[in-house]
Amino acid sequence: MEYNVAEVVNKVIEDVKVRNKGESEFHQTIEEVLHSLEPVLEKHPEYIKESILERIVEPERQIMFRVPWVDDNGNVKVNRGFRVQFNSAIGPYKGGLRFHPSVNLGIIKFLGFEQIFKNSLTGLPIGGGKGGSDFDPKGKSDREIMRFCQSFMTELYRHIGQHTDVPAGDIGVGAREIGYLFGQYKKIRNSYDAAVLTGKGLTYGGSLARKEATGFGVIYFVNEMLNYHKHSLEGKRVVISGSGNVAIYAAQKAQEFGANVVAMCDSAGYVIDENGIDIELIKQIKEVERKRIREYANRKDGSQYFEGQKGIWSVKCDIALPCATQNDISIEEAKLLVENNVLAIGEGANMPCTNEAVEYFLEKGVLVAPAKAANAGGVATSALEMSQNSMRLSWTFEEVDEKLKGIMINIFEASKNAAEEYGHKGNYVVGANIAGFLKVAETMMSQGII
Ligand code: GLU
Repeated sequence: MEYNVAEVVNKVIEDVKVRNKGESEFHQTIEEVLHSLEPVLEKHPEYIKESILERIVEPERQIMFRVPWVDDNGNVKVNRGFRVQFNSAIGPYKGGLRFHPSVNLGIIKFLGFEQIFKNSLTGLPIGGGKGGSDFDPKGKSDREIMRFCQSFMTELYRHIGQHTDVPAGDIGVGAREIGYLFGQYKKIRNSYDAAVLTGKGLTYGGSLARKEATGFGVIYFVNEMLNYHKHSLEGKRVVISGSGNVAIYAAQKAQEFGANVVAMCDSAGYVIDENGIDIELIKQIKEVERKRIREYANRKDGSQYFEGQKGIWSVKCDIALPCATQNDISIEEAKLLVENNVLAIGEGANMPCTNEAVEYFLEKGVLVAPAKAANAGGVATSALEMSQNSMRLSWTFEEVDEKLKGIMINIFEASKNAAEEYGHKGNYVVGANIAGFLKVAETMMSQGII
């Protein structure tokens, strides 16, 4: 049977919009991914016949729950918890937990959907899932964070497991939160299932280099892409949005490759330091003191602070690394960057550029390292953490870092080859989507209609 592929894809997208009303971020990723799969569907009409698209856009399971907790003043607070178990074709659901006031079902679904393709690209056996809460960790005491995490896990524990679903961190969830979550899981289950969570502390099954992995991976990928196009990071001006885990370690690795990182930000404002951002100072302010980035300008001579986060994209750079959150770069910021002759974009955050911005960059010949590929180093190293837990041993930092580097190079190769094979040479956005999709689609075909 002959299909009109464009029509089939549009129909699936329209259905998603009708069935998932108001979930704009979810619609955004569905549109971006599904359109890029059109050349695959031309070659594989069996995927249309077996409704692979209709199935892949529908999460296998969605869990929403009440998270009540008591603050330091004795007030009862109620947040909403989520876990979306999106696709388990190639392995147990895997993906982080995000604690941020902007979290809602649509955000978790967009993240979960992206995770399916990202995880597939790593080449490791992990399916896609995501979770979190609209809880805002900002300004909360350690005890409040602990009570919240305990309450969150008191429901979540029944839905996860090392062979079922393995959460990790994301925005607002780092080693401290994972520690409290793991403690509660262990207490309820009375079982030391180290591989039920990743991003753990080093004393109880965490992997060396997991903390650094996402940021390092972004730079390994960008470096590979630049080299392929006869460029390098050496001497390049780099601007990085964000100052969390991804941004910090991307900055550190970019500097190791000889780049000059001149600006970073948080949600309130950004700092410019023409002498190169002092990463140790950022770590001290952000990781240790948990303060705002404005502190940096107070402590570092020659640096300047500016209010407003998006202004960072007016800072001239060769390489822009959006490592903060989704939709950080829209068409206005994209135009500014292109006017300033940006050479490459490396997406450290999930979906940091709007679809319009990505199209504009590609049209103008800017190299784009898409999030699903470029930031896959974090979850890849989570999978390495699971392997180490299962083997009850731990690899050295160098061993993990070497494996991570190899994985990022393979992801670049896979994205490049898929783009070429399907008629989009140099378009790593399309290439990553196709390469990630093929493995999942083929697996779904072999596992039957489930
Ligand atoms: N939250 C990270 C991501 O977006 C890491 C997930 C994980 O390690 O499971 O990929």
